Amino acid sequence: MATSPANIPPTLKGRVLIVGATGFMGKFVAEASLSSGHATFLLLRPGPIISSKASIIKAFQDKGARVIYGVVNNKELMEKILKEYEIDIVISAIGAESLMDQLTLVEAMKSVKSIKRFLPSEFGHDVDRADPVEPGLAMYKEKRLVRRVIEQSGVPYTYICCNSIASWPYYDNCHPSQLPPPLDQLHIYGDGTVQAYFIGGYDIGKFTMKVVDDVRTINKNVHFRPPSNCYSMNGLASLWEKKLGRKIPRVTVSEDDLLGIAAENCIPESIVASITHDIFINGCQVKFHIDGIHDVEIGTLYPGEEFRSLEDCFGDFVHMAVDNNINNNHKGENGGGVTTTAATAGTKK
Ligand code: NDP
Repeated sequence: MATSPANIPPTLKGRVLIVGATGFMGKFVAEASLSSGHATFLLLRPGPIISSKASIIKAFQDKGARVIYGVVNNKELMEKILKEYEIDIVISAIGAESLMDQLTLVEAMKSVKSIKRFLPSEFGHDVDRADPVEPGLAMYKEKRLVRRVIEQSGVPYTYICCNSIASWPYYDNCHPSQLPPPLDQLHIYGDGTVQAYFIGGYDIGKFTMKVVDDVRTINKNVHFRPPSNCYSMNGLASLWEKKLGRKIPRVTVSEDDLLGIAAENCIPESIVASITHDIFINGCQVKFHIDGIHDVEIGTLYPGEEFRSLEDCFGDFVHMAVDNNINNNHKGENGGGVTTTAATAGTKK
């Protein structure tokens, strides 16, 4: 059921509107917003909702989230929503295909003049520094354009540069943490030595919600670089082997292989391949120092707060792999006959 403005109790913390709360990244943010005690409003697109998303929304409502129906690319409607619900903070986790819709949202925020912070849909690399080949580049160009429009609007902003989600970095999967790492063959990109940062979804949400009320992060890029979560492909493979207690064959996926998959321009897999190339061949997450006036590292902001280690996150994947195997074997008994491997477990979005 949608929320009416009259039903909203007063709150000391900022009122948060989340766009894309039913999505992969938005779910972590919505969960953290509710846990942090912010009055949390979810902007949902009107129309039929598939049952898996309906249950996500219901779970958030049970925790106190209020639902508002609307689309970000309707300026008048967004102005009305922002004013009537007295929204202070807007967090967008809108999907890659809708990034440009945020331009209208920025216009609406500029017009109401009351927004204290906007976090656009970033949640990855510092797009002004990263340099993927196409088709990842096209997505980064859109994120860069959104940044420039926000900066011109005068709306206070923060860009969350949380790097990679804690998972096996499949080259063709937008949401890799939904799968355990492979059990039969490990793809190693290039020589396997380039490092990257892998952050658990829970921590992406948690630290995003710390940032939204923190004056030190106004108009900054916030970089997530916990040393405990910095791994190369070789290191990831060894970690997974340690968790499973056995060796797994490693196969090199070369720079040319990744560029070839990117060049196929099959969306979204080729976008993921181009970004995988930028991470593990170009080293886009580690090749610069965080020393610009607009940069801040999350560990320096909250030195007492620990990130969940990748070692722990991979522990969860052991359970997921076991569950997948049981389910697949069960399907096999019923005629499905599936074995859990990277190739068969459905690595696409
Ligand atoms: P998803 O595709 O999973 O979800 C997109 C969400 O946006 C859905 O809730 C969708 O609603 C909503 N949405 C789309 N268009 C509109 C609109 N016009 N108005 C209102 N809501 C809309 O997105 P992701 O979670 O994959 O991506 C979010 C961000 O996170 C992106 O910037 C992406 O690049 C980044 N990302 C980073 C990763 C990392 O490893 N660092 C991994 C994956 C994503 P509906 O339910 O109606 O479809």
